[in-house]
Amino acid sequence: MSPRYAIGIDLGGTNIKAGLVDRAGRVAAKLARDCEPQRGPDCVISDIAAMCRQLLSARGAGLGDVVGIGLGSPGPLDLDKGLILKSANLPGWHNVSIRDRVAAQAGLPVVLNNDANAAAFGEFWAGAGREGGDMVMFTLGTGVGGGVILDGKLLHGSFANAGELGHMIVVPEGLACPCGQRGCLEQYASAGAVARRLTSGRRDDPGGRPRPQVADGRELTARDVVDAAQAGDPLASRIWSEACRYLAIACVNVQHAFNPATIVLGGGLAEAGAVLIDAVRDEFRRQSWSLCEDQPMIIGAALGYDAGVIGAAGLAWTSLSL
Ligand SMILES: [Zn+2]
Repeated sequence: MSPRYAIGIDLGGTNIKAGLVDRAGRVAAKLARDCEPQRGPDCVISDIAAMCRQLLSARGAGLGDVVGIGLGSPGPLDLDKGLILKSANLPGWHNVSIRDRVAAQAGLPVVLNNDANAAAFGEFWAGAGREGGDMVMFTLGTGVGGGVILDGKLLHGSFANAGELGHMIVVPEGLACPCGQRGCLEQYASAGAVARRLTSGRRDDPGGRPRPQVADGRELTARDVVDAAQAGDPLASRIWSEACRYLAIACVNVQHAFNPATIVLGGGLAEAGAVLIDAVRDEFRRQSWSLCEDQPMIIGAALGYDAGVIGAAGLAWTSLSL
């Protein structure tokens, strides 16, 4: 019997998301639960295996109906050995052989990949990049993740760190990044960064006018930055236009490195929709070279928060099926 489904797992520091995904990238069933990584790998791995069993029983399926499991995990990872080396999102986890342990408990083969790469692969396989051609994705969330798909495959690099697009330097000697560099893209163009920059700017200039409309005590979000910028707030406007400008510069650099057909923008910041996409396209046209007329399409992501699950399942389909 040929398999009908792959299981996609999106392991994060906050949540574990799991889905049963068919060969066309459609989600037949999905589940989510808190991760609570401080409980340690044993509990979390048991939960993942239990979620796989729940998904199968929800559709009346057995192990023979499933090609395997794709697992997107925070890293850095050792892809050859199937290890989580360590992760800021999974405190205390070191050299966890997640691939083989999930495989043993679930009774299915497992393909492991970085979570941002899995989400990018999801958009390539079943989302914004499904029309084909090489694709690069920026996931503009708490930080900036990325993924590069060339000739239908995720680019891993010699040390499995290809696609760390958030740490491309866009501002020489710019803002310090926890990674140890200065001026990384994610310090300017992530949802977390724009909110943080507006918060600290307000603190430094409490009399600034006009103020964003925010209830007392609530933390500012990327949405507040967009709203305040559109209302003409000068600080928010500057932060927003810098985010768009530096993202466009990153897109120009990516164009020259990989020559993709499509650049996909996803994550919380991309929920601003056309406000972000149009500004990045305009700035891209301003900044990009004039030697070649063919330019990548810059478009928004299509799969939303399911991208990680769908992409992990897509990796299982493309890696494990005959
Ligand atoms: Zn960095």
